[in-house]
Amino acid sequence: MNDTSIGTVFLENVLGNVKNACELANIPVEIYEFLKRPKRIIIVSIPLRARDGSLKNFIGYRVQHSDALGPYKGGIRYYPTVDLDEVTALAMLMTYKCAALSLPFGGAKGGVACDPRKLSLEDLERITRRYTYMISSVIGPYVDIPAPDVYTDARVMAWIMDTYSQLVGRQVPEVVTGKPVYLGGCEGREEATGYGTFITVREACKLLGIPLKGARVAIQGFGNVGRHAALHLSSFGAKVVAVSDSKGAIYRKEGLNVEKLIEHKKATGEVRGFQDSTPIDGDELLGLEVDVLIPAALEGVINKEVAERVRAKIVAEGANGPTTIEGNKVLQEKGVFIVPDILANAGGVTTSYLEWIQNLQREHWPREKVLSTLEEKMVKAFNDAVETHRRIEAGMRDAVMVLAVSRVALAIQTLGIWP
Ligand code: GLU
Repeated sequence: MNDTSIGTVFLENVLGNVKNACELANIPVEIYEFLKRPKRIIIVSIPLRARDGSLKNFIGYRVQHSDALGPYKGGIRYYPTVDLDEVTALAMLMTYKCAALSLPFGGAKGGVACDPRKLSLEDLERITRRYTYMISSVIGPYVDIPAPDVYTDARVMAWIMDTYSQLVGRQVPEVVTGKPVYLGGCEGREEATGYGTFITVREACKLLGIPLKGARVAIQGFGNVGRHAALHLSSFGAKVVAVSDSKGAIYRKEGLNVEKLIEHKKATGEVRGFQDSTPIDGDELLGLEVDVLIPAALEGVINKEVAERVRAKIVAEGANGPTTIEGNKVLQEKGVFIVPDILANAGGVTTSYLEWIQNLQREHWPREKVLSTLEEKMVKAFNDAVETHRRIEAGMRDAVMVLAVSRVALAIQTLGIWP
């Protein structure tokens, strides 16, 4: 593992934010030291016999950070640069995300270093099933419940469910969330993260007196989170003026037609070339003069240099960890209102919780019930964060972290250490 990997910097950022929060909330240093390390790390080797007969090897991780507030919970990411530090940072964020939303879960994350864009469906299934087999003894409906993340989807979750179920000899839908709706999945789960981001943007606009109708929005990343946030924002009259994906970015002053853009991306595999739009540089998108900027791709994009160029009034973090500590400092000094990741993208895991309880009770809720329950929980968490932000006179990132870390610390202090 490379010491200066993006994952290492990301982990330092997350730990820095947790440390700040512990200091602000007067949480004993020994609790911070305790939370600095995950409770369990699993690293597995995943062999794959390629079509040409050669043997390939992939490396997979499952990091279980804390189960003080409930079973471990968190997604599985397939991405070429996945490493232990990145997965650890993401597992920690899950602990605090679940705590910020008052969900009865701890935090975990998984990952396989591979590029699903270059793998056949068959190989993707084999990697998934072997990875699940290798971690099967440490996951389970009351132990650790995986879910989708970057480049994993409902189909991958179905394979995980099936592999685990075959191993234990009965159907266990509640071992994983984010499944296809017809296999025990939850209505609205796919759009849930983006919908949650939309709700936090709506609440932030309300708070700052920015009318949502006509608000200008730029979105970095047009995957599951960016796409659904864009859809909901535009359906409420916001103007999505710029969007990017890994191949490029586009701009349209009057706002892009999001529904048509989704069709265009489906057909061509990229946002570039969309009707009436101007191609722009992906980096330029982050510095556009807009009301709302939504980084919804990967970690570490808003560093000090980028933050200096940000001209948005609100930054809502659809991605996990998109802003570095230095970037955050600059944004705060500039008076940008930040909706931090563990709040802005918590719609996914909150709906995972709803899926899990439906599975446990063998129930199936209609989409309206799911989305209204999600909205209620997101608005409550947002208001709790704003209340803390005012009470402790700190930025929103510190405020949400203070709330979350305090809940985890209280659980740890109450439970004590055994054996
Ligand atoms: N991967 C998502 C996240 O980062 C969802 C996790 C979950 O549903 O467990 O929050």
